[in-house]
Amino acid sequence: MHDIVLTTFNARYAHTALGLRYLLANLKEWQPKARLLEFVINTNVAEAAEAILACNPKIVGISAYIWNANEVRELVEIIKKIAPQIWVVLGGPEASHLPHRVDFGKADVIIQGEGEVAFYNLVTQLLTTSEPPQHRISASPVDMKTLILPYAFYTDHDIAHRTCYVEASRGCPFSCEFCLSSLDKKVREIPLPLFLDALETLWKRGVRNFKFIDRTFNLSIATATRLLDFFLAKEGEYFVHFEVIPERFPEALKERIARFAPASLQLEIGIQTLNPDIAKGIHRKLNIPKIAQNLAFLQEHTHAHLHVDLIVGLPGEDLGNFGRNLDMLQSLTQCEIQIGMLKKLSGTTLSRHDEEQGMVYADTPPYEVLQTQDVPFAAMQRMKRFARFWDLVYNSGNFKKTAPKLWRNGKVYAGFGAFSGWIYSQTESTWQISLDRLSWLIFTYLITQMHEDESFVKGLIIEDIMAVPGRKLPKFLRENTPESNVFKTQPSPANKRQRKHTAQAQ
Ligand code: SF4
Repeated sequence: MHDIVLTTFNARYAHTALGLRYLLANLKEWQPKARLLEFVINTNVAEAAEAILACNPKIVGISAYIWNANEVRELVEIIKKIAPQIWVVLGGPEASHLPHRVDFGKADVIIQGEGEVAFYNLVTQLLTTSEPPQHRISASPVDMKTLILPYAFYTDHDIAHRTCYVEASRGCPFSCEFCLSSLDKKVREIPLPLFLDALETLWKRGVRNFKFIDRTFNLSIATATRLLDFFLAKEGEYFVHFEVIPERFPEALKERIARFAPASLQLEIGIQTLNPDIAKGIHRKLNIPKIAQNLAFLQEHTHAHLHVDLIVGLPGEDLGNFGRNLDMLQSLTQCEIQIGMLKKLSGTTLSRHDEEQGMVYADTPPYEVLQTQDVPFAAMQRMKRFARFWDLVYNSGNFKKTAPKLWRNGKVYAGFGAFSGWIYSQTESTWQISLDRLSWLIFTYLITQMHEDESFVKGLIIEDIMAVPGRKLPKFLRENTPESNVFKTQPSPANKRQRKHTAQAQ
């Protein structure tokens, strides 16, 4: 039996809820009475409620995020129907900012902001007094010097099987309007010696996969170099992930990043747009020559795995402009390019563009843009599919040699856009396309639409597929199968359906 249950729905089993561990670590004398229960978004919500209620808690603290807001709403409703005496407390980014577009009205208390101290105070009030709590608590940013670090609450099982998130600082001094981190301008660091001790303890416990959630790892170069030195001094295999801004790679950082072994370092680099006017319109800094110079350095002189991102649907940006961004970015780096749709998060100032730019967003999570003055709904839908096929074909790394044949003369956006439209006409879906089928579709497109040489394309696809040891070639590429000798376009589901309808009509 536990008086306090801390819970959430993670996006995947491998993800761990760092926020809940922070709450638990800072519960002081209430900690022995508290229990952490993590679920995954595809957990049946009633079963999650059953597991929580089996602890017979007095207080249930739930973290709400953009990916689990609906599950959290349902969970709150079930708990309050079955056990109305339980205090249900919500926190997390999705609960922290108004308006709530998912109805959290059944929760007893909503903590807005950083919850570690506020949740402790609330628990103390609820367990020791009869004073009713405020419905909404506005929590101030916590003091990073007195905050108790949460890493002891990674279990041995977490360490062996899941990702361990770590955090050296909170906040971001920049003002990108779409981003919640822009609200927390004052960057606050965990005292570095304390944090390095925590990393060392995690290392000794066997953690080898560290994901930093700091929004701008390369903001303080003094801190960043100490952290890189920590990892460079270690032997054996490990993997570290940092989010960085692209403009800021002084020599001290470059030199260290260049010393990381292959497959040990990943840098997530936010680009979002390469158009200075669009960047200015959303208060985002942009220094293209610096970005080009740093990407070239990272690509040519380091083994770091790079991951850059672009956003579709920014206020004032049409698809021609987005296309130029993609063409330019792909010419600068051949790393993974994540294409995401703009999301309007409560609490950000993005809504100031709504009227002037004709911005229309979905009212349900993840609140993606549906259309803008410059990108009508149908074109936005096409871009969603573009992004999905881009992930399957380009970002997956499964077609490293073949994918660049989908465009000519550096016109990545135009070439891949034509492919994306064609493949969707064949599949009528962007999901559940096996690697074999995808290979066949790419092959068919390159032969029939791009008029490439059949044996040349086969050779490229064979090289790509067999780059991963243990893979079997798709049937059409194997020797002595009917598919290997005769090129024929397989009927698409649309064609099949049409044929069926025609047959029925006859
Ligand atoms: S997008 Fe990145 S740089 Fe901009 S405010 Fe957010 S965290 Fe900071």
